[in-house]
Amino acid sequence: MSASAAYAAPENVEAAVALLADAGPEGRVLAGGTDLIVQMRMGRCSPRLIVDVKRIPALMICELGTEHLRLGAALSTAELRERPEVRALFPGLVEAAELIGSEQVQGRASLGGNLCNGSPAADSVPVLIAADATCLIAGPAGTREVPVERFCTGPGETVLAPGELLVELRVPRPPARTADAYLRFIPRTEMDIAVAGAAAQLELGEDGRCRNARVAIGAVAPTALRVEEAAEALVGSDLGEAALEAAVAAVRAVCRPIDDVRAPAAYRTHVVGVLLKRAIGIAARRAAGEPS
Ligand SMILES: Cc1cc2nc3c(=O)[nH]c(=O)nc-3n(C[C@H](O)[C@H](O)[C@H](O)COP(=O)(O)OP(=O)(O)OC[C@H]3O[C@@H](n4cnc5c(N)ncnc54)[C@H](O)[C@@H]3O)c2cc1C
Repeated sequence: MSASAAYAAPENVEAAVALLADAGPEGRVLAGGTDLIVQMRMGRCSPRLIVDVKRIPALMICELGTEHLRLGAALSTAELRERPEVRALFPGLVEAAELIGSEQVQGRASLGGNLCNGSPAADSVPVLIAADATCLIAGPAGTREVPVERFCTGPGETVLAPGELLVELRVPRPPARTADAYLRFIPRTEMDIAVAGAAAQLELGEDGRCRNARVAIGAVAPTALRVEEAAEALVGSDLGEAALEAAVAAVRAVCRPIDDVRAPAAYRTHVVGVLLKRAIGIAARRAAGEPS
């Protein structure tokens, strides 16, 4: 680990942006540090300046409004899971956050860090995409918004330019009879990286048919992917076997997984379909108000 990294803990977004802009590519944001510190210890990065953002109130909010859930980018997953009103509307999102690491990791880890780290296997990203979440980004040129589905551009790569900071994730408040679910597969029972993950958010009509759907998958391509063809297969259907099989075929068709020691590519492609089918079932039962 670099012994010469300077540390700053600004108390507002403007000060953080100014510090990051001044440091350029050698400046790094520290949220929970559960990815960053590990990477520094492994020698994978040696920033000149570390900007701790946990003292910035705007990055620690958790506000459920009439239009959106606003999640500060540095809010810990431990704090998120203590909000029953959030869990009631976004059970899949909270469950995905709860999959990240251990109790100790969750006391620090943030959804902003999970996204900005750029891992294709990050557990919260598919479910954020399925929920149609947007990133609020601040930088030297002002603020901009980017949908989560377009935030990551490759493994470890994002749309953030030097000097830019993810401030908040904005998740639209779902309509009635809408629910989400996320499932992942890991080779161990816990504390492992997903070899495949699938998320769905479904809205049901009064007749029980699917009125709206968003589907996203993780760990099977260089970034998490929204799969519109899978959603189209579900919308208007009774979520019966034919619609589920069409959605599964659609996600398998867009997979571009790596083949590695943790899982062969063909296995990842198969498993993501199985997970999606199950996640759709869970989201549908939740949307219908039934036990999931
Ligand atoms: C033991 C262990 C188990 C883990 N298990 C899982 C798991 O099951 N699933 C999973 O998905 N992940 C897992 N992780 C990875 C990690 O915990 C998560 O990715 C976590 O959400 C990262 O959040 P953080 O706040 O700690 O990010 P940090 O480490 O602080 O930051 C991660 C990266 O994002 C950048 N960054 C952070 N916040 C911002 C911001 N607001 N604006 C711009 N850039 C920013 C940092 O500069 C850094 O490059 C695990 C890690 C450990 C150590």
